[in-house]
Amino acid sequence: MLNIYKMQQIHYIAAQAPKLRHKKNSFFTRMKKISHSKIQDIINLTESTYIVRLEKNNFEFKAGQYLVLNIPGENMAREYSIYSEENAPYIDLLIKEVTNGKLSKELKYIKIGTKVEISGPFGFFILRDRDLNQGAHFTFVATGTGISPFHSMVLSNPGLNCEVIHGVKHNVEAYDSADYPIGCYKACTSRDQGVNYFGRVTNYLKGREIRKDSIYYICGNSGMVGEVSGYLELQGIAPENIRTEVFF
Ligand SMILES: Cc1cc2nc3c(=O)[nH]c(=O)nc-3n(C[C@H](O)[C@H](O)[C@H](O)COP(=O)(O)OP(=O)(O)OC[C@H]3O[C@@H](n4cnc5c(N)ncnc54)[C@H](O)[C@@H]3O)c2cc1C
Repeated sequence: MLNIYKMQQIHYIAAQAPKLRHKKNSFFTRMKKISHSKIQDIINLTESTYIVRLEKNNFEFKAGQYLVLNIPGENMAREYSIYSEENAPYIDLLIKEVTNGKLSKELKYIKIGTKVEISGPFGFFILRDRDLNQGAHFTFVATGTGISPFHSMVLSNPGLNCEVIHGVKHNVEAYDSADYPIGCYKACTSRDQGVNYFGRVTNYLKGREIRKDSIYYICGNSGMVGEVSGYLELQGIAPENIRTEVFF
């Protein structure tokens, strides 16, 4: 049971979140040079999810990393995982318009040709060379736009030995499912009777044998990431073979 002290701590951390984001962003700004990139296109995938296509210029990254994007003159820097493959001539970001959100709403209607600020790449949620060289098996678990780093990893590493498990509400949110090798991608749909599995990713995982020789990458909301990583540990997966990225 949570005691009063613990609850106060949780409230304090929640209250600090926006300030921490600001501090984190100023830290990023100091650490990495900001460059400008033109919006080349906005591609709507569903009513609320879209791709922002940016000029790549000299921006290099490893699949799984993210960048920080800001509209010049506005203090709204936000992190976005890169959706496109490492060698694509552009950078794609897969963005969900958040109800009551700021940047995710504004970007959806931004004028093509607008210059935005980007910095990065950031993050260590990438495939290790050692694992790739050994032909390791990877299990990627995502919810919503948490699929973004895995889309980039799969496209950047043809023949990757992997399974992608994607939790979404509706069938239309199985974004670009045809981009994955046949049999690799499974959508777990919680509201529509799905093509692959009707229910949440956690239930999908609990209903089957957990591969002990796989390296697990989990990305999405903190609730799912915590639940899935906890379950995998209980199933005997070593913590060093469970990697996580939390979006919110
Ligand atoms: C490392 C990292 C990578 C990220 N990559 C992506 C990405 O590839 N695509 C993407 O869409 N977002 C991604 N995010 C989230 C993104 O940075 C923003 O938080 C999001 O776009 C909301 O920004 P906003 O300004 O519209 O809303 P804000 O005003 O910043 O937030 C409004 C509220 O929405 C919550 N929220 C944030 N994201 C979601 C969501 N997807 N669904 C429901 N609630 C949410 C926030 O926690 C907050 O409570 C990533 C975050 C991190 C930390």
